[in-house]
Parts: sequence; C-alpha cells; structure tokens
Amino acid sequence: MNYIVLDMEWNQSYPRIINETTKKKSKPKNEIIEIGAVKLNEDLECVDTFKSLVKPVYIKKLNDHVRKLTGITAEMLSEGDYFPEVVWDFRDWCGEDRVILTWGYDDIPMLISCLKMYRLETDWVGEWYNLQVIFNAQTDGGKNQRSLASAMEYFECGIDEEHPQHDAFNDARYTAMVCRKLDLRRGIEEYARNTKAMSPTATVFMNLKEVARRQYRCTVINGRSQCPEAFNTNACPVCGAPMVRGKWVRQGRGKLVSIGECREHGRYFMQNRLLKGKTEKLVRKTVFESNPEAEEYYSDRIKASERKEPAEAAE
Ligand SMILES: [Zn+2]
Repeated sequence: MNYIVLDMEWNQSYPRIINETTKKKSKPKNEIIEIGAVKLNEDLECVDTFKSLVKPVYIKKLNDHVRKLTGITAEMLSEGDYFPEVVWDFRDWCGEDRVILTWGYDDIPMLISCLKMYRLETDWVGEWYNLQVIFNAQTDGGKNQRSLASAMEYFECGIDEEHPQHDAFNDARYTAMVCRKLDLRRGIEEYARNTKAMSPTATVFMNLKEVARRQYRCTVINGRSQCPEAFNTNACPVCGAPMVRGKWVRQGRGKLVSIGECREHGRYFMQNRLLKGKTEKLVRKTVFESNPEAEEYYSDRIKASERKEPAEAAE
C-alpha cells in the first residue's frame, strides 16, 4: 500500500449576498488552483511526485491574500490546465492501493466540493487521514490543530529558503518529512479514537448533512453589527413553519449553534457564522439534519456556556 501526501492551494472569493428573489446561483466560495503530492511506499520512501497548477474557471480574480501567501500569480495560473484534466491525472497517478494523508481537515472536503462543482465522481478519493491527529497523539497529546511549520520545528526538520511554505508541492514534501517521524500504521489504527479526542467539533461537523443555507446582511446599530433576522427566523427547511429552538450558544470565534424542532419534520442543528465581506458583514446560516452526536455536542456547549468556559481554542 502507498501513502499519498496531498496538499492544495485554493483561491477564495469574497462573500456575497445570494439573491433570494431571482435565485441566481452565487459563485462558489473557493476554487482549487494548485495540487501538489508526494507518493510514499510502505517504508515511507518517496516513489513519485505530482505538481500541477489549475486554470481558474469560477473565480478569475486572484484574492490578494492568496496571491501574497502562495506567490502564485494570475499569469502562472493562465498556463495551468483545467481542473477536470488535472484531477483525472491526479486520480490515475494516485493508483489503486493507497490512502491519502493531509495536514489539516480542509483539503479533502475542498477537493470533494470542487469535484461536485464540475459534476465529477467523488468515490475514488477514498480513505484519508488528517496527520495533525496522528502528530498530536504521538507527540505531546495536544488538542489544538498545529501548523505544519510547528510540526517541522518539533522534529527539527528545517524549511529551506528556496522551497518556501504555502506552495502545494513544497508543503506536500515537508508533510512527507513529518510522516517519516511518525508511526503511520499505528496512527491510522488509532485514528478514530484520537480524532474524537482532539476535535469534537470537527468530528460532529464531518458527519452532518447540510439541508439549507442562507445569508443575512448585518445592520450597524451604535457601531455594532447586528443581525436579529438570522437568529430569530428559524423556519423548518422542509415545510417553512417556524421551529421551536433552544438558545444560541458559542461554538467558536464568530460562530454560534442552536437546535430547532419542527413538530412534523424533526430536529435540525443550526450554525450562524459571521462573514466579513469587502464592505459589509453577513451572517451565514447553515441548517443540518440533527443526529445524536450533534445533540450531545449542543448540550455540551450549553453546559460549557453555563460554566463560562471558553469555546474550543482550535476553532
Ligand atoms: Zn416542517
């Protein structure tokens, strides 16, 4: 079996209001612009590499922050190939008997959302693991998501100046260096238990099914952004009837969660998230089908808010 160490860079659009009256589909928020990967064999030796830039289709303007962070320019992207070609090359390159390893929880959901955007198959992605979980479990047992740079420092692996971070290929190579310091086989065996211990929030959100999403514009009252509509309008996503809901509790910075119940259609887990646009602030409300994990998470958050504990640091 091989290990595919994957890293990607993506461009971001600024949040925009979805036009409710025309139901015009808004642009996607993110679009992958670079895929970098290293293939390791069972002895963690590098057997092949993959590196490709992706020509953007949906978000043509390169976000300033992304450009500065990655060093990728619009000219470089114009030389890239389109996402479907790059991703099929990548799929072939990955081969059959392998698992994907990433640094963080974001890359694979991003890959899957871009595949769906192009109506491409997603099943081939298969098993994947966030190395942060394995790193924490096998080092100091920390619960926060650590940066790749801090893991490199922990193992005294140097970042060389000619290969800066935030380049998908360089980061995949650096991540592979960290892999060689870990017991991957054991890390994968113990993964489920350790993910839950490290990030209860991520575990809950990974298994939720989104059923509705809407954005509300904030109004500024006495210098403070307010958005009562996002918190007081709690319509059932199926029939639109007002739901009975619990209180809104803090999930993390700029994020609140609650649970609503429709007498006919059951319980829904809701998240309100503050988004900072270029000129205004928005609240994005996402409604998910509730499940036992979400219910347990919500009641834990309520207990924590009653004890006035801070929300999870990693969020
Ligand atoms: Zn209903």
